[in-house]
Amino acid sequence: MHNVGRRKFHEGRAKVFFESFDMGLLVQHFKDDSHVQDEPINTIDPISGKGIINNRISAFLMHHLELLGVKTHFVKSINMREQLVRKLDMLPMQIVARNIAAGDIVNRIGIKEGELLPQPLIEFYHKKNEISNHLLTEDHMLIFEWLSPWELDEIKRTTGRINDILSGIFVAFGIRLVDFGLEYGREYIDSDDVGKLIVGDEITPDTCRLWDIKTNERFDRETMELFPKEAKEIYKKLANRMGILDLSV
Ligand code: ADP
Repeated sequence: MHNVGRRKFHEGRAKVFFESFDMGLLVQHFKDDSHVQDEPINTIDPISGKGIINNRISAFLMHHLELLGVKTHFVKSINMREQLVRKLDMLPMQIVARNIAAGDIVNRIGIKEGELLPQPLIEFYHKKNEISNHLLTEDHMLIFEWLSPWELDEIKRTTGRINDILSGIFVAFGIRLVDFGLEYGREYIDSDDVGKLIVGDEITPDTCRLWDIKTNERFDRETMELFPKEAKEIYKKLANRMGILDLSV
């Protein structure tokens, strides 16, 4: 009932954004809903508590990125499921950074799952659901003027830096960051500016592949898709390992 009277800005499959009293800010609300990658609708039953865990994990990771000078949309946590974020005009693509071969790159390139890539690889995918598995070339993004050549360079540099920071954070928890997806958007401060690109959306086990360094146990959306009944425990185990959530209180 606490959402009565709040103006919805956007509702997706995993999150709802509400208008906030502060100009230029939104309330990002994490739902328990889940969906199989690249399916336009929610095909898995909601996983109770997933929204709470994802809210905490994304807040934790974005806060640490900010501490190290990476600008994100995260402003502050409001409650267990919600955070205040900057309102962005999102770019129509997802940026994926890969350290280890997994997912669609395995068949695309013909390498073994789990193989360490010679160096981190950054790829761009179109974000529209029905074509989300389609890789974009740099020319696609430049010709359709989604961003400028120097912004493209900046995104690649920043994503590389984020990969270094997040890999370091997860290693401290005994977890390998296999790959992850990011979304960037433009923040408009004045009506005539071009909009600075900053990191938006979420960084959570829904958007990362996270494998235990010793056992390769997986703590991410793939396990959730394969074993939806165990998903809550898997997400909880990750949150406990990161020490950011005591679900018993
Ligand atoms: P989907 O829309 O894919 O079903 P979500 O439920 O996660 O997934 O919805 C998130 C949507 O909100 C995405 O389209 C994303 O680009 C957009 N978004 C993320 N962060 C912001 C932001 N700070 N401002 C405006 N839109 C955002």
